[in-house]
This record gives sequence, structure tokens and C-alpha cells, in this order.
Amino acid sequence: MKVGFVGLGIMGKPMSRNLIQAGHQLVVFDIVAAAVDEIAAAGAAKGQSAADVAARSEVTITMLPDGPEVEAAVTGPNGVLAGAAAGSIVVDMSSISPLAAQRVAAACAAKGVGFLDAPVSGGEPKAIDGTLAIMAGGDREVFDKVLPLFQCMGSSATLTGPVGAGNVTKLANQIIVAVNIAAVAEALALATKAGLDPEVVFNAVKGGLAGSTVLNAKAPMIISRNFKPGFRIRLHQKDLRNALLAAESLKLSLPFTSLAQQALIALMNNGRGDLDHSAIATFIEDMGKVEIKRP
Ligand code: NAD
Repeated sequence: MKVGFVGLGIMGKPMSRNLIQAGHQLVVFDIVAAAVDEIAAAGAAKGQSAADVAARSEVTITMLPDGPEVEAAVTGPNGVLAGAAAGSIVVDMSSISPLAAQRVAAACAAKGVGFLDAPVSGGEPKAIDGTLAIMAGGDREVFDKVLPLFQCMGSSATLTGPVGAGNVTKLANQIIVAVNIAAVAEALALATKAGLDPEVVFNAVKGGLAGSTVLNAKAPMIISRNFKPGFRIRLHQKDLRNALLAAESLKLSLPFTSLAQQALIALMNNGRGDLDHSAIATFIEDMGKVEIKRP
């Protein structure tokens, strides 16, 4: 397929590489020229703008930080819709507010362009392996056309409902991850301050009910003091903000999500917004005057 890819960051680079390796013809664009050069060296054609990419593609994928960037890149000047032909498809794989996804879908529909919101979970390692979990919203017919591309980037792709449903599902995912990391951090802080080796405690609990993918991925990072992203604090703060806004519009209380959000805001104010979200542990550590590490 002729595929456009806009947004070549931590996630977009490996996702576009997997599409190239599967034999699709890619044309790519990012506002950072070095990122475009890197993926061009892997076999993609260079696009001059999002509009140029879309004009040369049957399906254009966007992988950008948040809703404002997606709206600018799709509906703004020189954006995807300035180039996309009627009958082509836009797939936004960024994690954005469900309402923003619906606005972008409406702008696409007005030009006869199909749209899916299809955020992902799994982070950089699964983007590299092509084993992301993809959660999509939109029409079944559009989903079925894009499925072969999803299968190059992910090990699962689920249509969860109409446009916006993909991002509601992703927000649910982000709540589980954030509150789980906070619980892991509090548990390991307690163990460390009580004089135990946090790695021994991690190994003792990981096979029981407390075990989780989050525990297995993040406890080793916290204990080894490796907070290289991965998934940045500032992006997780953005996701919880979108979750709390969606919850407010539904008159739903999410108290534990709110607490996790307060921690993320404090961490950003402390200059830690670009650390991996496992650094939520440092918020707990600062309050307890303890560092989670092996004795
Ligand atoms: P990133 O900041 O590394 O990459 C974003 C890229 O978009 C950058 O290269 C930036 O230059 C580019 N960009 C910004 N505005 C642009 C525009 N108008 N036109 C073209 N390019 C533009 O972010 P990321 O970690 O790759 O995340 C992308 C999305 O995926 C986010 O919504 C994030 O929440 C989500 N996500 C990230 C992870 C992760 O582990 N990193 C996991 C799951 C989902």
C-alpha cells in the first residue's frame, strides 16, 4: 500500500520502519528534518509537508504528541486534508482526547476522507518489535482496509466502537498504568525504608496477584535508577488530563486518577517531565526521604 506517515518520534520511527520492512511504500514527514532523514535512509520517500505526504498516499498515519498537534497537522494550513484525495483514509494513532478525534473525523468526512482513531499501547519496545496493542474507533469497513497495516505494527488490533472509542479505550489503559506505577512505587518505598532489598520484594510478589506487566517493566527501572524514556511523564500527564476531562463531561468521579495526575504535575514542575513515567517513584521518594535501590 502507499502509506504516508506524519510524526517520527519515539513511536513513529519504529512503526514506520516496520511498515517499510513489510513492503509498503512509505512517504514520511516530521517538523524535525533529522527524523525524516533517518527514516528516508531506511527506505522511505521524503515528504515536504503533511499535505504532500497525504497527496501521495492511500492511507496517511499520524503519530503526534496530542490533539492540538493532530488538528494542526490534519486540518491546518499545509495539513493532511490540503492534500488528501476523496476516498483516501487518515488514521490517527496518537493518544488524544476522544472529542478532538471526533472533530478531526468530521473535517475528514466533509472532504470524503475516511478516519480512524487508533491509539496504541506497549511503548517503544513493542513499537520496535511490531507487537503493539492497537485500539481503534471508526467504521468497520475503514478498519478492515487498514487492518493489514495494523498487523505490521501490532500483535492485536481491536475495533472498540465508533470514532473516539479508540481513545476512550486508550484513556482506560492509561489510568490502569499510572495508578499501577504509583502503587508499585509506594510498595517499593515501604520495603526499602523498612530495610528490605526492593529487588527481593519485587521477585517475591511478581508471581502473585500483585504481578502485572507494569510491575515487571517498571520495578527494574526504578530499582536500577534508569528513568530514560520510554514514555515521558509529560505525555502521561496529558493522557490523564484527557481522561479527567472526559470523566467530567460524563459526571464521573475518578479520585485515584486525580491523585496520580497531581503527582505528574508536581514532577513536571520539578523538571522531570521528560523522564520515563517510572519516575513517578521519585515523587513518593521525595515525600518519604528514601531512595528505592538495592542496599
Ligand atoms: P514524540 O514526542 O517522541 O514524537 C512526536 C513527533 O511528532 C516528534 O518527532 C515531533 O517533531 C513530531 N511533530 C510534532 N508536531 C508535528 C507536526 N505538526 N507535523 C509533523 N510532525 C510533528 O512522542 P511519542 O512518544 O512518539 O508519542 C506519540 C504519541 O503516541 C503520543 O500521543 C503518545 O501519548 C503516544 N504513545 C506513546 C508511547 C510511548 O511509549 N512513547 C506509547 C503509547 C502511545
